[in-house]
Amino acid sequence: MHCPFCRHSDSRVVDSRTSDDGATIRRRRQCPNCSRRFSTSETASLSVLKRSGVSEPFSRAKVISGVRKACQGRPVSDDQLAMLAQRVEETIRTSGLAEIDAHEVGLTILQPLQELDVVAYLRFASVYQSFDSLEDFEAAIERLRAEGPRGAAVAAEPTS
Ligand SMILES: [Zn+2]
Repeated sequence: MHCPFCRHSDSRVVDSRTSDDGATIRRRRQCPNCSRRFSTSETASLSVLKRSGVSEPFSRAKVISGVRKACQGRPVSDDQLAMLAQRVEETIRTSGLAEIDAHEVGLTILQPLQELDVVAYLRFASVYQSFDSLEDFEAAIERLRAEGPRGAAVAAEPTS
């Protein structure tokens, strides 16, 4: 690792720690030439295997652009989209896999999207779960109704 200050070709690791979620390692390094310190961070690469067989690096921007289409005309902010994409990435990284199917990425988006906006969720789910009949929509809507806008809160109420 080159020193970013003097371009010396070597550096010494003085400290190394793993982030709480275990996904990133941060290293504190010192240059033996100019003695200045700098940090590096190391994250396992995560790739997405597309249906075409091509694999590409996981991209939050791609998650956002895919979800944004489903959110057209819905009250969903850019901040909410960014948080959703972050949650999706964290969920996928927790699985510990280095490569994930593009279809799996779509399925991972469903849960946080349902919490964000049910209409956008239905649009998105109809593509990713390949709804091909009115019955598929009915079943999904029925499930959403049963779960209510806040699934857990509604489920906690006594049923008569
Ligand atoms: Zn240096």
